[in-house]
Amino acid sequence: MDSGKPTFGSDNGHSMAVRLMQHLVVPTFVLDAERRVTIWNHACERLTGIPAAEMLGTGDHWRGFYDESRHCLADLIALDQYDKLAELYAAHTSPGEFGFGLRAENWCVMPVKGERRYLAVDAGPIYDDQGKLIAVVQTLRDMTDQKLAEMALQNLATRDSLTGLANRRSLDDKLELEWKCGQRTGASLAFILGDVDHFKCYNDHYGHPKGDECLRAVAGAIGAAVFRPADMTARYGGEEFAIVMPNTDLAGAQAVAERVCRIVRDLAIPHVDSATAPHVTISLGVSALVPTPGNSLDALIATADAALYRAKDSGRNCAVAAEST
Ligand code: GH3
Ligand code: MG
Ligand code: MG
Repeated sequence: MDSGKPTFGSDNGHSMAVRLMQHLVVPTFVLDAERRVTIWNHACERLTGIPAAEMLGTGDHWRGFYDESRHCLADLIALDQYDKLAELYAAHTSPGEFGFGLRAENWCVMPVKGERRYLAVDAGPIYDDQGKLIAVVQTLRDMTDQKLAEMALQNLATRDSLTGLANRRSLDDKLELEWKCGQRTGASLAFILGDVDHFKCYNDHYGHPKGDECLRAVAGAIGAAVFRPADMTARYGGEEFAIVMPNTDLAGAQAVAERVCRIVRDLAIPHVDSATAPHVTISLGVSALVPTPGNSLDALIATADAALYRAKDSGRNCAVAAEST
């Protein structure tokens, strides 16, 4: 009769195995073929903050990790739903050649403990002598510290330390990537170059630390003016900024550049030494190209640069679109 209670431990060998698993330092839980929890070991209790007594016999194992019902890795094995891996996990390896076991990684909210943890998870099926699935074992490793260190390193490598925008290296990578993508799709790639007006005078008058503060504020305004996740805002160098906009034509990019110009102006950062306005302003050059064999990424950047020079020439504090693209 099905009591809903754990079914492990019916003989000495089994109970020994269960006891070993209970004391394993690796957080581990086991589901039976009906996906009910049969083991929730001490390390899993410590990791999740949920005592085994609350879990055994239930299908509530997800509660240890997430704040709403969803499948864990062990469920995907029990249900043979390997196609759900990408949807449910940030990183994963597909079943190997023989289809045994899965490995995946994810941020988990850990609702009882109330702290986000990055967990690496392994899950593997256990079959009886007839090849029937009788259990799935899931082990977990807390990789939060390693993940945070990896993210910090990634941040160092890809973000500009003063402004927090993408750095020049990731801008170059993004441009290369989007150019290649445009070659395949025929979509227009837009590029905007912005340069803070009379910034040398700003530094001279207010000092370099204030200059840095001003650059941070301008960078924040640029970030706020660009909404699409596919776009990238970057520090091009010094007091120059760049925006990459995939799938965007010249008119669309011009509208964004005008928005950036307006938002920077609206910051109303005083600039008594500016020959343009009594506050900090920015000039922008805009270009857009459909990647074809007849043009190049260098041409995209050069046309934005030329347009920026025209913006400077025509009085600054404005956005100018490239003449011919
Ligand atoms: P224009 O309107 O023609 O662009 O004039 P400008 O004075 O802005 O142009 P210029 O290129 O002569 O000056 C750029 C200034 O930006 C000079 C440099 O000291 C300053 N700058 C570059 N990087 C930084 C930085 O990280 N922090 C600070 N505070 N200033 C910087
Ligand atoms: Mg400059
Ligand atoms: Mg400048």
